[in-house]
Amino acid sequence: MTKLTVNRSTREKLYGQKGKVFWMTGLSASGKSTIADAFEKTLHERGLRTYILDGDNLRRGLNKDLGFVEADRIENIRRVAEVAKLMVDAGLIVIGAVISPFKSGREAARALFEKGDFVEVYVDAPLEVAEQRDPKGLYKKARRGEIPNFTGIDSPYEVPEQPELHLQTSELTVEQSVQLLMEHLNARL
Ligand code: ADP
Repeated sequence: MTKLTVNRSTREKLYGQKGKVFWMTGLSASGKSTIADAFEKTLHERGLRTYILDGDNLRRGLNKDLGFVEADRIENIRRVAEVAKLMVDAGLIVIGAVISPFKSGREAARALFEKGDFVEVYVDAPLEVAEQRDPKGLYKKARRGEIPNFTGIDSPYEVPEQPELHLQTSELTVEQSVQLLMEHLNARL
């Protein structure tokens, strides 16, 4: 490949930041999108350049040909991770909000990045809590059998073993979660 004049390093210098992805994984309604939104707001207020890759939104466009069987979920994660990688190369701080239930998928995503650029964030709420929140009514639908292969109901969620950050959203406020994310970022700027 031709070596490009404007590259990640020149972009990072221009922006005064390091490209990075915060990969938020967890059950539906665990709080990924809510925390991603609040985190991005804080970063934005500090003049940092960010982008949220929300699994639900991407399923309306880039990934609209994919369903929820295992092979499709793997492909879904692969595409989100590849897009995140391009954005990190663009010098952005990317926040991924994707259930990404399988350990292998998250590991494959991590493998695309340089060490330290991929921050796995386990957004953790017990199933009962997530099911009670149910902001989009998805658990109710899944319980009625209207959404097959729903993570936590009839499709497994493999708990991250060594995430860089573990946010227990039934214990932490959204603000406290954002603070932990900011501390992680600030320690590595
Ligand atoms: P996900 O993106 O993981 O599917 P959402 O962010 O869409 O989850 O939904 C989480 C829901 O839980 C929201 O309605 C949010 O307001 C609510 N919630 C309540 N307490 C918390 C908390 N401490 N952290 C994050 N979300 C919370």
